[in-house]
Amino acid sequence: MPRRRITFSRNVFLPLTTVCRNRCAYCGFRRPVGPGCLMRPDEVGAVLDEGARTGCTEALFTFGERPGEVPGFAAELGAVGEESILDYCRRLCLDAIERGLLPHTNAGVLDEVELESLAEVNASMGLMLETTARVPSHEGSPGKDPEARLATIEAAGRLRIPFTTGLLLGIGETAADRVESLEAIRALHRRYGHIQEVILQNFAPQEGTGMAGAATIAPAEYCETVRLAREVLPAEVAVQVPPNLADAAVLVRCGADDLGGVSPCSIDHINPDHPWPAVDELRRAVAPDAELVERLCIHPRFVERGWYPTTLAPLVRRLSEQIREQQQ
Ligand code: SF4
Repeated sequence: MPRRRITFSRNVFLPLTTVCRNRCAYCGFRRPVGPGCLMRPDEVGAVLDEGARTGCTEALFTFGERPGEVPGFAAELGAVGEESILDYCRRLCLDAIERGLLPHTNAGVLDEVELESLAEVNASMGLMLETTARVPSHEGSPGKDPEARLATIEAAGRLRIPFTTGLLLGIGETAADRVESLEAIRALHRRYGHIQEVILQNFAPQEGTGMAGAATIAPAEYCETVRLAREVLPAEVAVQVPPNLADAAVLVRCGADDLGGVSPCSIDHINPDHPWPAVDELRRAVAPDAELVERLCIHPRFVERGWYPTTLAPLVRRLSEQIREQQQ
């Protein structure tokens, strides 16, 4: 019997800015406007170069939501010659493409015009739904309004953007909320067919945040949630767990089939205290029932359907071929 295939993407993590208009109680990423709050082009270039050197195929761009709404941020952008973070991100996506890395951007809540402009230079994009519930940890975070997030995910579907979303587990939601969140994602996928993977990310408490002492999801409940997701979501939508925050070996046995981005050369800037395991370690963790295989940030079925911009066509084709050869 063939072994199950567990996928991952070799990436570099680029947190363009830590400035964000939201105030999530669990956040250890957000910082005020000040020195170092915006990655400069040369810093981004150095990370991209290292990614290319170490065989990465994905450049994950992520940043605080709508930082332009925070007073003082415009001057930071001005210093790099830009007026908007999205224009800056587009420019850096082109730098990634030039070095042979496929951009995947997670920019928070966006409208359809903004999504479309980023889609021209991205192989895939993402936005965590987190939860459909209104939870106290999201008070003060307009961007965490579930309707706004579902609207962004739906707009991505209309635009045929291969998309990643997910749930953040343990932020005040109930078991029923998790079911509702998964069903909401399923409904959008049934309509547009654009969801590649659903991340089930466990909230990890960070020092100095409003939820530093909060309890995390218990292993048995985590496993149950993975099983639930596998039951609710269509088979073509991968259930992803983060191997630097959770026990991948256990959760793969519970039904998870993707380990998301794993970086050989950059840290998880959202959870900096949790280094990624080495790929060989993960390979051993999923064996012997399953084998670990590399994928691109755009899944093969979206490559076949041509759901990528013309700017990326040669690179998508070349990297798809490279991945196919690796697996023969
Ligand atoms: S949206 Fe993200 S970066 Fe902004 S406060 Fe919430 S968790 Fe932090």
